[in-house]
Amino acid sequence: MTVRVRIAPSPTGNLHIGTARTAVFNWLFARHHGGTFILRVEDTDTERSRPEFTQNITEGLTWLGLTWDEGPFFQSQRLDLYRQAIQTLLDQGLAYRAYDTSEELEEMRSRQKAQNQAPRYDNRHRNLTEEQQRDFEAEGRQAVIRFKIDDGRTIQWTDMVRGPMTWRGSDLGGDMVIARASSVDTIGQPLYNLAVVVDDLDMAITHVIRGEDHIANTAKQILLYEALGGTVPEFAHTPLILNTSGQKLSKRDGVTSISDFQKMGFTAAALANYMTLLGWSSPDGEELFTLETAAAQFSFDRVNKAGAKFDWDKLDWISSQYLHHLPTEALLDQLVPYWQGAGYGFDPVGDRPWLTLLATLVGPSLTRLGDAVDLSRFFFTATVDYAEAAKAHLTQPGVAEVLKATLEALPEANLDSLEAGKTLVNQVVKAQGIKKGLMMKSLRAALMGDMQGPDLMESWLILHQRGFDQGRLEAALAIAQS
Ligand code: GLU
Repeated sequence: MTVRVRIAPSPTGNLHIGTARTAVFNWLFARHHGGTFILRVEDTDTERSRPEFTQNITEGLTWLGLTWDEGPFFQSQRLDLYRQAIQTLLDQGLAYRAYDTSEELEEMRSRQKAQNQAPRYDNRHRNLTEEQQRDFEAEGRQAVIRFKIDDGRTIQWTDMVRGPMTWRGSDLGGDMVIARASSVDTIGQPLYNLAVVVDDLDMAITHVIRGEDHIANTAKQILLYEALGGTVPEFAHTPLILNTSGQKLSKRDGVTSISDFQKMGFTAAALANYMTLLGWSSPDGEELFTLETAAAQFSFDRVNKAGAKFDWDKLDWISSQYLHHLPTEALLDQLVPYWQGAGYGFDPVGDRPWLTLLATLVGPSLTRLGDAVDLSRFFFTATVDYAEAAKAHLTQPGVAEVLKATLEALPEANLDSLEAGKTLVNQVVKAQGIKKGLMMKSLRAALMGDMQGPDLMESWLILHQRGFDQGRLEAALAIAQS
């Protein structure tokens, strides 16, 4: 059997982390088995579906590296197929038109509530005569199409994550609506559960891998697969992603869509790695891996039943590991858009050698790509603000002389390497007869405007190549002499 799986997002919002994690598990399972991963856009909800959300979803999946082999297929373009299936069910007496008004249904629900019963349709229009149907039509009522659910049925499947599952037909809420807004000779808008089953059969899906919030749908859908004469696929219901207080992660928790994580400066590889760990663990306990490595090891035996807590610290740790191990050139390519976004002036092509030095300097301090904006700000400006600590140092005795000597030596020194910088420092230290510590502190205060920060000599080189060191030394000298 060739494995065929699908991710079936509804384009009613941006690509959500829960959907993306489900996509990861589908992708890993497909790749593990050399199978096919299909993208199906479930856009039958015409009021809430938007093309820009579809775009956000396809871009997000592509960015994460979750390439699909077939699709995207759009349910909105397949309505005829669903209507044909509904017609088959009607012809076989497995579905029927029901004419209840919303008031009647409401009244039925309140009565059930008053009697402490679970809300369900009481199947009252299951056996309408043609004449009764005609009368309802004459009253101007619209029909829905309902699929018959046998209350006496037991529905069972062995879930790849949750093991044996059993549902009673009587717990499914009565005969289910599979199409809205129909009449005696038309079939209106086909609904979600029906469309999913028709598509899964048509696309020969072998394994349905989706969030556990769909478990109740699964029982209903199994009845539909059977009624439509198809093979019921295997199911894997993946655990929900929970917030830190153990509730389902929702919009209220802030960032939930993949494009938000992207904007926050997580790399695709780090985010995909982290999402894989939301519910799965690798057999060797390794926490850093590529999707390809995870695919080689992936099985549902190692997917948890319990919800997966979203852990920002863990994501940040993974993110920093990726950034610290990224080759400088690749890191630079990812940093350039952040520096551009911050409005820093530079030429991405002409300044590339200089930008490479900067990426090398800030790289080891990054947790997220966006951290580079603050960490590099003062390399993009000619001047620097002097912190109190820097001013306090600059006004110490002897500092003005150190700065003057450095300024004098600067035009002669060809500062094109760390070696050249060291030579210059040693030269000034010797000529002035001062301690090296004083020299280094004075340089740091003068060039960086603070007593803490990144490596001094590397920073100096970067500032020098930008032509910013002389002006800063002069500004610092003015403070020292004030
Ligand atoms: N369209 C559904 C959703 O976005 C997925 C349905 C399925 O995977 O069967 O939650």
